[in-house]
Formats: sequence, C-alpha cells, structure tokens
Amino acid sequence: MKFCSECGSTVVLRVPSGDNLPRYVCSGCGAVHYLNPKMVVGCIPEWEDRILLCRRAIEPKYGLWTLPAGFMENGETTLEGAARETWEEAGAHIEMGGLYTLYNLPHINQVHLMFRARLLDLGFQPGVESLETRLFTETEIPWDEIAFRTVRATLEQYFRDRHAGSFDFHFGDIRTR
Ligand code: ZN
Repeated sequence: MKFCSECGSTVVLRVPSGDNLPRYVCSGCGAVHYLNPKMVVGCIPEWEDRILLCRRAIEPKYGLWTLPAGFMENGETTLEGAARETWEEAGAHIEMGGLYTLYNLPHINQVHLMFRARLLDLGFQPGVESLETRLFTETEIPWDEIAFRTVRATLEQYFRDRHAGSFDFHFGDIRTR
C-alpha cells in the first residue's frame, strides 16, 4: 500500500499508539489502514459416488483441477459465497450441506472454508474461469494435478471419511505453499 484510500496522501508503515503491530498510517488524514486475512469459500459437489472438479482457466495454477471456490465478497455469507463460486466456475445447481473443512493459511493470510454440497442435476458446465468441469470417482481423481493444498487436504479427508462411513468437521493449519 502506498496511498491513503481516504485522502490520497502517502501512507507510512508504523505502529500506531496503543497498537502492537505495524499498520499503514496516512501521513495526511491519519487514517489507519488495517490489513486482515481473506476468506476463501467453496464446496465439494457430490453426485452419487463422484465429486465435481473444475480445471482452472486462470492463473495461478492454470490447467490444474480444483474444487469450486474463491474469495468471499463483502455483503454475502460464507454459504452464499460458496454457492456463487460454484455457479460461476461450474454452472452447477447445488444444495449446500454443512461446513466440512476449515484451514488457516497464516503464511498467505487466508482462511479456507469448504462445505459439503449435493449436485441437483447434471447440467453443470465450465464458467469463464474453468477450462473443463467433470465428475470424478475416488480412483479417477487426478491427484498429481490438484491446484491447491487445501483442496487436496479436503479431498483426502473426504475420502477417508467416506470409507469410515461418517463425515465430521475438520480443521487445521497449513503453513507451506
Ligand atoms: Zn488519508
């Protein structure tokens, strides 16, 4: 950050009085600009014994497979965000289920939330951010071409739980890229 979004003056990185972390503080109006983690929300769309993955048409990780997910927008709930991303990336009609995984990624200041979801029909198709959308059984999952560690961790957990016959909520920390 270089300039204040309130008044356009330059900002300096310093610890405001009463605070304990450096913040971008405006040299003109004095506004303190806090930077906080971003939420990524998505889901695991299920159809019988298969799940829906999207092959990315955008960087980062162009050409690799992911669950439908993306940055939450202001004014929406986590469930609404996950459903919106699923529609945008896969054109999929879903019924959203419960929260399934939560991963903290402190090295990139993100929190990833993935919900379980049920596909309502097979009318899905790639959105502009996807090259391809298709259903995979567990043995068909392209494990070497999964885009993100949180997606991989969620998928591994999902199949472990399915073998065990019970799905519980899982959370954890992922500290490496
Ligand atoms: Zn300012």
